[in-house]
Amino acid sequence: MPARTPTPCRDKLCRRTTRHAHGYCDEHADQAKAWTRGRAGRGRGGRAWRRIRDAVMVRDRYLCQECKRKGMVTPAAAVDHIKPEAEGGRTVDANLEALCGPCHAVKTQAEALRARQRGD
Ligand SMILES: [Zn+2]
Ligand SMILES: [Zn+2]
Repeated sequence: MPARTPTPCRDKLCRRTTRHAHGYCDEHADQAKAWTRGRAGRGRGGRAWRRIRDAVMVRDRYLCQECKRKGMVTPAAAVDHIKPEAEGGRTVDANLEALCGPCHAVKTQAEALRARQRGD
């Protein structure tokens, strides 16, 4: 395996260099662990969310389901909760659908309005 080029430690105040893939020197390696844990967890942006989102996209054939109900064929841009999380909706494929940009925006706006009315 070729040796990695040493890079400066990711710790802003640290002046050491590292060959670790995570970019921290040995002294700051624990920060790399925290960084990895924070990113790989559950929730939006996590690996679990990405997997379920991809599955919903495939199920919905990458088409906006809201447009489909209106008889239109529009490529989907996002996967969204049918019943929002704020209203008790769960992150399961049955409660998720693919939406195009405009439909997603309309839905997000309607949810924000309902949240305001609830006093969230
Ligand atoms: Zn360091
Ligand atoms: Zn749409």
